[in-house]
Amino acid sequence: MNPQEMFLKQLEQAVPYVTVEPEYLEILRHPKEVLELSLPIRLDGGGVKVFKAWRSHHNNALGPYKGGVRYHAAVDRDEVVALSSWMTIKCAIAGLPYGGGKGGVAVDIRELSRNELENMSRAYALGLSRFTGTNYDIPAPDVYTNPQIMSWFLDTYEKVKGYSESSAYTGKPPVLGGSLGRADATGKGGIFVLREGLVKLGLLGRKDLKVGIQGYGNAGTRAHRFVEQDLGLTVVAVSDSGAAIHNPKGLAFQEIGQYKNDTRSLKGFKNGEELFPDLIFGLDMDILILAALGGAIDGQNASEVKASAILELANGPITPDGERVLADKGVTILPDVLSNAGGVIVSCFEWIQGRSGDFWTEDYVFQKLDERLSHSFQEIFSIAEGKKISIRQAAYVKAVGRIVDAMRFRGIWP
Ligand code: NAD
Repeated sequence: MNPQEMFLKQLEQAVPYVTVEPEYLEILRHPKEVLELSLPIRLDGGGVKVFKAWRSHHNNALGPYKGGVRYHAAVDRDEVVALSSWMTIKCAIAGLPYGGGKGGVAVDIRELSRNELENMSRAYALGLSRFTGTNYDIPAPDVYTNPQIMSWFLDTYEKVKGYSESSAYTGKPPVLGGSLGRADATGKGGIFVLREGLVKLGLLGRKDLKVGIQGYGNAGTRAHRFVEQDLGLTVVAVSDSGAAIHNPKGLAFQEIGQYKNDTRSLKGFKNGEELFPDLIFGLDMDILILAALGGAIDGQNASEVKASAILELANGPITPDGERVLADKGVTILPDVLSNAGGVIVSCFEWIQGRSGDFWTEDYVFQKLDERLSHSFQEIFSIAEGKKISIRQAAYVKAVGRIVDAMRFRGIWP
């Protein structure tokens, strides 16, 4: 399913449970503005290649647009627009003073040298420089972008502007004003949400729960570390785009995390059985963490899922058809717009620290992150219980209520 259609369906499913005038709903169905760029890059071996790129501004009723930049061969305008729409919802749920934005470049970065990657990143930031800024749109990392790429973006932006403005980007390395804890924030935040979910399911403290993780990059590896370290649970399966590894006795983060870090792949890991990546869904486990890409579970494969709870760290990993099958099986879904909000929350902390010049300890960052996510979880869970709806529907009810409140005060102008 097209990701923007997925967003629209999720929005519709919340509408019966929230007071919203049709005109505001209509505004939320569309991005406010989308910039499309063509980035011509001179290749090291000679010749020029042109990459398509976008930045979508979905809604800014609550504050400046905020959202990551994705580098992936499958990126297109629709995906970027959908991801920016989800950011509007996510920021509203987390109580952040932001709207939703998202960027993407259609590129397979494995085909670029470091020099070509730097040039392409700078070309993107240059094209975006009239479309971003501390009080306008604050980009951050997403799939296949990282603190080094944020540094090139920021440096380009500041050179164009002619002054320093480190809060124009987040997800920077600490030496350029990045926040401690930012790299761990999505995984750490997800485990805070999982902990709250387990409390409600009466499962917190059960050490026999088995966990599987689809996607073993930034978010997935951190989720593995924290699910072991903070909740004492055993991960029995992990997967990346090349392979799934299964060991019913457990896969220690120290061992497999190190292997992935050293070899950049799970393929060839010896202390477990190697399977095709998608076979992870049918393995015996209690909790499934989705930390790869969108649309991982759909109407076709949802019936294979053995887990009774799913934590969505990826954006849009379950299609509405897949969700219907899972709901019939009684699976609890902790939805993306809540579960992976740790990244944007700590990005907001980075933005606050940069603007005030007062930098926080990592412990303080995680304490504030925990407070904010636990509070959002409780609010959403009581809406879900009160209205007898899913946690995702409740999350949208909360978000749409807050965004539309802001839109009513602002009015529709011009
Ligand atoms: P990443 O590029 O670091 O990792 C993605 C991982 O998914 C890689 O290990 C890749 O091999 C794996 N993958 C791709 N296709 C797969 C498949 N078919 N089966 C199994 N694994 C597959 O990206 P990331 O930053 O960890 O982001 C992962 C997801 O989390 C994305 O949906 C992203 O939008 C979302 N997210 C990330 C952040 C963040 O701060 N990094 C914040 C919010 C949401």
